Amino acid sequence: MVVKVGVNGFGTIGRRVADVINLQTDMKLMGVVKTKPDYKAQVALKKGYTVYASSEQSLNEFKKAGIKASGTIIDLMKNVDIMVDATPGGVGEQNKANLYEKNNLRAIFEGGEASKVADISFVAQCNFEKALGAKYIRCVSCNTTGLCRTLNAVDQAFGIKRAFATIIRRGADPEDTARGPIDAIVPDPTKTPSHHASDVNTVLPHIPFTTIAVKVPTTYMHIHAVNATLKKTATREDVLNVFEDTTRVILISKSEGLASTAELFDLARDMGRPRNDIYEICIWRESVAVIEGELYYLQAVHQEADVVPENIDAIRASLKTSDVQSSIKTTNATLGIIK
Ligand code: NAD
Repeated sequence: MVVKVGVNGFGTIGRRVADVINLQTDMKLMGVVKTKPDYKAQVALKKGYTVYASSEQSLNEFKKAGIKASGTIIDLMKNVDIMVDATPGGVGEQNKANLYEKNNLRAIFEGGEASKVADISFVAQCNFEKALGAKYIRCVSCNTTGLCRTLNAVDQAFGIKRAFATIIRRGADPEDTARGPIDAIVPDPTKTPSHHASDVNTVLPHIPFTTIAVKVPTTYMHIHAVNATLKKTATREDVLNVFEDTTRVILISKSEGLASTAELFDLARDMGRPRNDIYEICIWRESVAVIEGELYYLQAVHQEADVVPENIDAIRASLKTSDVQSSIKTTNATLGIIK
């Protein structure tokens, strides 16, 4: 079966997900929805995507700008099996009520939506089977995806009594001129725990987890400093072996020249990754330590990229067109995800 997919919201996440849907042989990108006739709409048309306006008013703006829109989202929804909603946080919930439910359409939502928007919060390697057939699936945020991938691997192997992470967040995405900070380190939020812990618990409810978060002046990647209290005895080597075997997680090291997010950015550019994307969660080998039953590690998360493969797997889970292994394998192969 070839699944017909529409993408609503063509910003940081929507553009990436659309490009990757376009790479799948079991999916067809039927169109993307834009609010404005800007350069992103023009690039979409250049790539051969069918562009739809988000409303009648937006369709008029396209007409005035002389940029082709093939109708509104209402027209697109007539021709798809599922929508991926990558609009800003909170808009997806309105779209669910006003668009998808009214048209009896399945939808994938993103991490900026409250978890109640969907039947399940999703990270493929943690709970694909539970999402099979779900009409509404929420791919959790970039931070939550990164934490779930590695905590789930550790939990499966050794059991986790409780865990804690300090999240050092990028201040803004590269194109986002409205956010900061430019010269400050900002506790965000100041309250403990930050919302990230409860979001991880929407996917891994059984792990007692606490997070604290700060924002820093950078646009590429978050870093997580993670601590987990293990149930079973494990050595550092045992943990490294588990990470080595975990999909969408890679071990990196300073001795390879990867001592910071700056060098990871350079690596992604050198590898010719589209938009310098790193889909994998990068764990510094040297940072992995087990001290008196406590595991510690540092991981870097490319906020714009790690959720992209999850969206592809979520589409297959919703339509029940694949099992978890085949879906992850296919998605990884099309993205060039490495070990
Ligand atoms: P974005 O602002 O880059 O893109 C959103 C796009 O949707 C914009 O192009 C905007 O013009 C458009 N839009 C706004 N209202 C719309 C409407 N009613 N109909 C159609 N399009 C509309 O946002 P983003 O960063 O891609 O975030 C999208 C979702 O993904 C959010 O839930 C966010 O929390 C989540 N997310 C973002 C990141 C990240 O690092 N940027 C990472 C993971 C998840």
